Amino acid sequence: MSTFLFDSIIVGPIKSRRLGKSLGVNLLPLKNKLCNFDCIYCECGWNADGNPQKAKLEFNSAEAVHAELEKRLRELQVENNLPDAITFAGNGEPTMHPRFAQIVDDAISLRDKYAPQAKVCVLTNATLINRHEVMAALQKVDRAMLKFDSGFDKTVQLLNNPQGNFSVEKLVESMKTFGEKLIVQTMFLRGTCNGVPVDNTTEEEVNRWLEILKQLQPRELTLYTIDRETPAQGLQKVTPEELEKIAEKVRALGIKVESHW
Ligand code: SF4
Repeated sequence: MSTFLFDSIIVGPIKSRRLGKSLGVNLLPLKNKLCNFDCIYCECGWNADGNPQKAKLEFNSAEAVHAELEKRLRELQVENNLPDAITFAGNGEPTMHPRFAQIVDDAISLRDKYAPQAKVCVLTNATLINRHEVMAALQKVDRAMLKFDSGFDKTVQLLNNPQGNFSVEKLVESMKTFGEKLIVQTMFLRGTCNGVPVDNTTEEEVNRWLEILKQLQPRELTLYTIDRETPAQGLQKVTPEELEKIAEKVRALGIKVESHW
């Protein structure tokens, strides 16, 4: 196994641990990952092979996304194989696309026309939700799943490698404004990256993370661990039992939680 890039705008449908039969929509370049994080566990590998300066800003055009999505939905309708979810994911952070809001509107219209039972979902690292148009677009979809891997800046620096200014405090303040549609996703793992230990499953980590979740009160929380090859070597999955133990602590706060292993 190795990390992989989507080589097209529309991918699948593929069976997703979290979303069922999911049709992927990739707004990012086809030849490199483009993200304002560079997570050590990212299934797409490093930003431009570890050199973010080289990452090309070649977003797929809103027109091409519309045309490709409509074409694929028509095919799937004929095959009687419509997806459970239309999911914005792909080679990086979808909300970085300058026409993200327009594309979300288009996807919702196409979903209504061809696959009304499908949920429109966005996997996002949440760093741009303080932009009005990004927040407004995410409020329109069925499931915007916002990444929150640690309540400590130093751990986020290790795990997620923010490519610009980042603070957990600011992220949490923005997430608090998301309202009742807030869904949080957290990746749990441990190991080393370039010889530096990283572990967001320690008691200190989980307690801080729970404290923040208590403030955020998301409508749902998804816990998961590594499933594919990671760009950093030396990372380990956590066990299903460990994920479940963390999930129980979340349930004790009255928050709905699912864990995927
Ligand atoms: S936020 Fe998502 S796309 Fe970006 S580096 Fe992390 S895992 Fe990859």
